[in-house]
Amino acid sequence: MAGAIGATASCVFCNIATKSNSNTTILHSDDKVVAFQDINPSAFRHYLVVPVEHIPTVKDLQRKTEDHSLVSHMLDVGKMLLLRDAPHSKQYRFGFHQPPMNSVNHLHLHCFALPYTPRWRYIKYLSFGPLGFIEAEKFLEKIKP
Ligand SMILES: [Zn+2]
Ligand SMILES: [Zn+2]
Repeated sequence: MAGAIGATASCVFCNIATKSNSNTTILHSDDKVVAFQDINPSAFRHYLVVPVEHIPTVKDLQRKTEDHSLVSHMLDVGKMLLLRDAPHSKQYRFGFHQPPMNSVNHLHLHCFALPYTPRWRYIKYLSFGPLGFIEAEKFLEKIKP
């Protein structure tokens, strides 16, 4: 996968994905992805789904089957967890920060069961075309093989 440089000891999400960080409660894990709660939640439920492989950002994903199916799988896992844990939420949202707006340089899908808490937190997840936040469905269209 382009941009993949392997697990790095300094990467907080690699540490979680390889389970060397035991403080994090893992909500889901399989051979491709790991899911856990955002350390600083912005919504009623706010989960992150990350690939086990160290892929820095959405810019490292390409229009090819392998990358598309990874992101689809991340989205499926996020939806499954939110439907399980927040079945009565009126709105769900799934997406990525595009660099340089991303906080951690290990690809992570933000999964929200809204409302945002506190309400002004939505500001962190605004879309500005090629900048800011991109909805997962929109990004999947972009990398559709
Ligand atoms: Zn990493
Ligand atoms: Zn982020």
